[in-house]
Amino acid sequence: MTHQPVQTPSDYVFELDAGCTCLDFANTLTFGRDHLNSYADLLAFADQAHLITPEDAAWLRARAERDQHSADGVLVRARWLRQAIRGIFGNLAAGETPRELDLDVLNRDLAESLAHARVLAGSGGGYAWGWSGRDLDMLIWPITRSAADLLTSDEQRQLVRECGAPDCLWLFLDTTKNRSRQWCSMQSCGNREKARRHYQRMRERRDISPGAAADAPRGRGRARRTPAAPVGDASATAV
Ligand SMILES: [Zn+2]
Repeated sequence: MTHQPVQTPSDYVFELDAGCTCLDFANTLTFGRDHLNSYADLLAFADQAHLITPEDAAWLRARAERDQHSADGVLVRARWLRQAIRGIFGNLAAGETPRELDLDVLNRDLAESLAHARVLAGSGGGYAWGWSGRDLDMLIWPITRSAADLLTSDEQRQLVRECGAPDCLWLFLDTTKNRSRQWCSMQSCGNREKARRHYQRMRERRDISPGAAADAPRGRGRARRTPAAPVGDASATAV
């Protein structure tokens, strides 16, 4: 999907491969594109990320229709939270200290969310974190908890990265063995960036080798006439 309409279509499929719920949520906003334009978008994200049950989704949809004003208020809160999450983890990815203001926003939502947190008995005899009650803002609860968990995990916090493409702001967890993941996704930014760098290298080579014939490197100068066609690893140009 390369073209993004202003209004996110109701059947939009969110990309959820950041490795963490709160980062997936942060990635609903990227350079020039926002996929959180309505409460319905927020609901779709939570539904697709399995943060709520189908029964919750149906209940919330009906409730939001009845109380549009409150639903809009939740959307505003969610966008503030998203901005704070982006700020906090964007700073950490850049090796910087998160701003107090962003932490304050997260903590405010965390306090409201944790009031609904419960430990629930699982079917296999174990226990798990869960939530009690239903409210329009229940979509925010697991996102705040995810952000708090990530931030307080010394191990995971250090794996947060920002996509290496200059026009992409996506955040993700680098869980590769040698910590070498550079792109939010190889299919989009990875291939595009590889192709862009390849052409840049070709152009630089052309720029260096022509000009004054006397200065041209002996023997190899001829290669400059080769058209900048994709070669070698540039199978990456398929985008
Ligand atoms: Zn990217």
